[in-house]
Amino acid sequence: MGSVGPQFNVFEGFYNTINGKLTSTEQTRHGINPATGKPNPEVPVSTQKDVDDAVAAAKEAFKSWSQTPWEKRKEAVLAFADGLEKYENDFGKLLTQEQGKPLQFAIGEAKTGVHWMRALSRLELKEEIVEENDAKQVIVRYTPLGVTVGIVPWNFPIHLACGKIAPSVLTGNPIIIKPSPFTPYCDLKLGELAQQYFPPGVVQVLSGDDNLGPWLTAHPGPDKISFTGSTFTGKKVMESASKTLKRVTLELGGKDPAIVTKNVDIPTVAQKVATFAFLNSGQICLAVKRIYVHESIHDEFLKAMVEFTKNLKVGDGTEEGVFLGPIQNKMQYEKVKTFFSDIEKEKQTVAVGGTNPDKPGYFITPTIIDKPADSSRIATEEPFGPIVPLMTWSDEADVVARANNTKMGLGASVWGNDLEEATRIARQLQAGSVWVNSHLELQPDAPFGGHKESGIGFEWGLGGLRSFCNAQSLYIKKTP
Ligand code: NAD
Repeated sequence: MGSVGPQFNVFEGFYNTINGKLTSTEQTRHGINPATGKPNPEVPVSTQKDVDDAVAAAKEAFKSWSQTPWEKRKEAVLAFADGLEKYENDFGKLLTQEQGKPLQFAIGEAKTGVHWMRALSRLELKEEIVEENDAKQVIVRYTPLGVTVGIVPWNFPIHLACGKIAPSVLTGNPIIIKPSPFTPYCDLKLGELAQQYFPPGVVQVLSGDDNLGPWLTAHPGPDKISFTGSTFTGKKVMESASKTLKRVTLELGGKDPAIVTKNVDIPTVAQKVATFAFLNSGQICLAVKRIYVHESIHDEFLKAMVEFTKNLKVGDGTEEGVFLGPIQNKMQYEKVKTFFSDIEKEKQTVAVGGTNPDKPGYFITPTIIDKPADSSRIATEEPFGPIVPLMTWSDEADVVARANNTKMGLGASVWGNDLEEATRIARQLQAGSVWVNSHLELQPDAPFGGHKESGIGFEWGLGGLRSFCNAQSLYIKKTP
């Protein structure tokens, strides 16, 4: 047990936060620094009793937090954002140590968490009067759901936790965050820091093993699960949540296409498309995962991408100038390597990369596969690592059909100086976020979610806040 306050230290002591207190568990476990293979500090392995205690505390907190005026809840979120900002460099260092991403991106992620919480606080769900006359008034209200659970993956533990905490508590719902067992550290510290700004039970964080997620989704107490992770696990979450009719928001996997038209400045666009494919070592739901380049510029575009990619530095995220840190964990590393095994099996053409360093740490060389078959695994599955296929196209209807020929529908982009052409193509793509001349650039006041098997519902924006609420239509007849 410990207490929170001025002695808050990002690097020492990792505890669950239950009902305003830091708690430990009898059994503990640890993550691995993916750049070195060395163990990180011990963290709690929550038990069913910890889950029961956290849910009970959240239910108790709901009584007053749901009645706390919006303005007060907003003040608490803004103060929490200020608190995180104060420690953003420390959080960044811890994130590199647990997740592997280069330090500048890790600090950038902490800053994004701050930005998201501030921007979401600027939104407000107001009551809407849909009809008003002498006889009646009809009001639409958005009332908090109850207790929510935020399940977070290992690729963006800070950003995604902040993106769930802020909308949940702003709308009056206490939240229990469950980080991935691969990356529990920053989220546990976020929970600890949050105790300085929220009443007990409003923001709680539990770390654990593979039992914890299913315990939370099956528990009769929570009213909503906000899940970010793979499509495979998302289906299990929905199945489990259905037993108690919990609300679910599912942010799942992607297989984002980037369509490059013939009207582009090749060196600029090749560099940007490569960046969006290899950022975070490809471990982004919205990374570019398929590239379709107009046939007429294929050779020059590929050459420019290769030139840029071969100079990207791979290494420990603490080293200067590193662009690609290691893959976050061994399981994912082995999965990414199966796409490298396909190269020989399927006689694929490697434009750059193709072999991986033989050294400790889960390092993968950024790799471009030139013109694989549309049916190959690299063109159809999500490697979630820095290996990307580049295909060609010549007919607009054909490339749109190929881009849409997937069960995924998270993001997509079209690149071209002819905005009319690029926007026309963009409007035909089946994805929750579509960019013209960019990719991946999200903003907290716009909804973010997937079409098809990339998700159910969406987060962020006003609609994202509404998804943490029940809608209530209040019909007031002015005379009986
Ligand atoms: P994952 O599905 O393995 O795990 C996600 C989280 O779910 C973890 O916290 C994990 O412990 C938990 N979990 C695992 N089994 C569970 C169960 N049965 N019940 C409840 N919780 C359970 O995903 P990951 O490997 O951590 O993340 C990578 C995947 O996430 C990729 O497919 C990626 O595209 C996707 N992703 C999507 C978004 C998005 O917003 N759409 C963002 C980031 C990552």
